[in-house]
Amino acid sequence: MDNAGAVLRIDLDALVDNYRMIQRQVGPALVGGVVKADGYGLGAQRVAQILTQAGCRHFFVALLGEAMRLKPRLCADASLFVLNGLQPGAEAACAQAGIIPVLNSLDQIDRWAALARSLGRHLPAAIQVDSGMSRLGLPPDEVALLIAQKERMDGIALRLVMSHLACADEVNAVFNAEQVAAFEKVTQCFPDVPRSLDNSGGSFHQRAHFDLVRAGIALYGGAPANGPNPMRAVVSLEARIAQLRTVPTGSVVGYGASHRCDRETRIATIPVGYADGWPRHLSNCGSAFIGSVRVPIIGRVSMDSMTLDVSHVPQAHLYPGAPVELIGSHQSVDEVAADAGTISYEILTQLGPRYARFYRSASAAERKRSVAV
Ligand SMILES: *Cc1c(COP(=O)(O)O)cnc(C)c1O
Repeated sequence: MDNAGAVLRIDLDALVDNYRMIQRQVGPALVGGVVKADGYGLGAQRVAQILTQAGCRHFFVALLGEAMRLKPRLCADASLFVLNGLQPGAEAACAQAGIIPVLNSLDQIDRWAALARSLGRHLPAAIQVDSGMSRLGLPPDEVALLIAQKERMDGIALRLVMSHLACADEVNAVFNAEQVAAFEKVTQCFPDVPRSLDNSGGSFHQRAHFDLVRAGIALYGGAPANGPNPMRAVVSLEARIAQLRTVPTGSVVGYGASHRCDRETRIATIPVGYADGWPRHLSNCGSAFIGSVRVPIIGRVSMDSMTLDVSHVPQAHLYPGAPVELIGSHQSVDEVAADAGTISYEILTQLGPRYARFYRSASAAERKRSVAV
């Protein structure tokens, strides 16, 4: 902890509470955990482990490589899906590992079915249809072909039909209803196959949620949609003051001399910078908190440090090693993201490897104690 620039605390109990809140929203649909990008930066294995304890049995990553690392850590009855589908040549490794690809094109379906037939056994898969986002999934013409030629899926055990919403975080967007209608229409051609459409945002729309939702950001405490955030905060980030100085009126601060002090200014330098994922866009516009006092970032965010105007902070809070809140009770991940002109997803997935990481989980601690007894 003394060797790191900041301490990242991850509250796994809050994460489980968020999982349960989403479950209450979407029931009787099930909640799957999206743990791509190393669990949105929080640690895919830790997240998957705690979600498994909470009853989650469906997990989603983006890449086969992510799935390969995670699969051995999951319990035997968990399903692990690869959202981005399969690159040509990756089929055998995927099948061997018992990982479920989300097939996004007829070509991917053909290759997966061919492998199944050559192995002489059924291989599980999800298929994704493009209901309007034009990103991943079978486009409408390929869907029509597939429905006309269902034998192309011989050998595939279809576990899920899914699609993805473009505007899930805008509860009232007309486009949501259009995508829901398109998805309903297509999935009628796959009776008895479980369906999945909603991410975090969609999980809070006032309608039914098909069979499985794929929750990511809301599990990790980010706002599922525009407006008030009902989720519990999961992440906090606390730096420590590295150095303090008082500079006279007219002094400039940081690279590019982009801030000029219009009064005598007390400056605290903290050892967190853009190499830690703290956005350089927060130069001269973001803030931190000391006690409950907002301290603006002045000057540019450097690679390994940044400078704060702490002129209004009581002296008792200012000493080398004093704590500085970057994410916490005064400043949420959503607020940091808004200041930086981005979204909470980007802030979380960029959280750097140089932070000291601590995971909090009362349930795990209790279990350990009861085993020891
Ligand atoms: C990332 C992703 C999700 C999770 O989205 P959140 O908004 O984080 O809940 C769900 N489905 C797909 C296809 C995704 O790519």
